[in-house]
Amino acid sequence: AKQQGKAGHHFFETALDERARMRRQLELDLRAAIRDGGFALHFQPLYSLSEERLTAFEALVRWPHPTLGLVAPGDFIPLAEETGLIMQIGEWVMREACRQAMAWPEPLSVAVNLSAKQFLSPALPAMVVHALAASGLPPQRLEVEITESAFAANVEKTLETLHALQGLGVRITLDDFGTGYTSLGHLRLFPFNKLKIDQSFVQDIAPTGNAHAVIRAITTLADALGIETLAEGVEEPSQLAVLRREGCQQIQGYLLSRPMDGAEVRAFIDDQRAR
Ligand code: C2E
Ligand code: CA
Ligand code: CA
Ligand code: CA
Repeated sequence: AKQQGKAGHHFFETALDERARMRRQLELDLRAAIRDGGFALHFQPLYSLSEERLTAFEALVRWPHPTLGLVAPGDFIPLAEETGLIMQIGEWVMREACRQAMAWPEPLSVAVNLSAKQFLSPALPAMVVHALAASGLPPQRLEVEITESAFAANVEKTLETLHALQGLGVRITLDDFGTGYTSLGHLRLFPFNKLKIDQSFVQDIAPTGNAHAVIRAITTLADALGIETLAEGVEEPSQLAVLRREGCQQIQGYLLSRPMDGAEVRAFIDDQRAR
């Protein structure tokens, strides 16, 4: 029967088997990387237009894979979330980001991405407390970034977690703003410190389009609510000019720098200070 099954295998079945096999292998490789400390952090600078200075670096996880090369988070974070491995990876990211940030001059901050699973976990505040304590990083120098997918079904639960983190002195950024279903009510309800305007809006900025009107609406609303704004994915000086004009306070993107490894970050900081 086995032989027959093999010979009669439909193409799609084989392809599905192959996918399942690869997924299982990737999960095993992820577990090995967690065990062996096989991840790396890259950092991308956040720059304040109003203060004309570097304010922070966002930690972006990378996975140097033995055969696949440097795997981008988009290619393993979803699997890590499905398998629950994101909890261990996320804890490593938090500890390592705080540890490296401790070596940067004050008051430079580090921004750490939290997945929805992490944000919704009751263990999150304690995990953050431990990472801060182990590194010695003052909580004021830590920002966490969440997307609206992290909002709990009930408002109270989301508020509770936001307040627990802010009670520690940690600041909270709503990432990818404008891409989902965040109602304006959520902005009023939840005490975010910063909005990251999604890069799709920034890349839509053109001399003739109306993307600048959307940017202005967001910065005006955020100003009224006392929330800072940062535009991500800034690649062109023309985009920067529009963002400045429309009152955006911070920028991040290839125009300033691509994500860098720890050594490159130190050189970048020295270079900025020498200016
Ligand atoms: P994100 O948080 O929205 O991060 C911004 C992404 O845009 C990064 O991709 C960054 O390299 C890229 N980027 C920055 N500037 C530019 C630009 O000017 N142009 C363009 N085209 N892209 C730019 P990356 O590093 O591949 O990360 C992708 C996503 O993976 C992140 O999106 C975030 O959602 C997730 N991620 C990264 N690190 C972590 C982590 O430690 N934990 C969790 N839970 N998620 C992470
Ligand atoms: Ca982010
Ligand atoms: Ca983003
Ligand atoms: Ca994103």
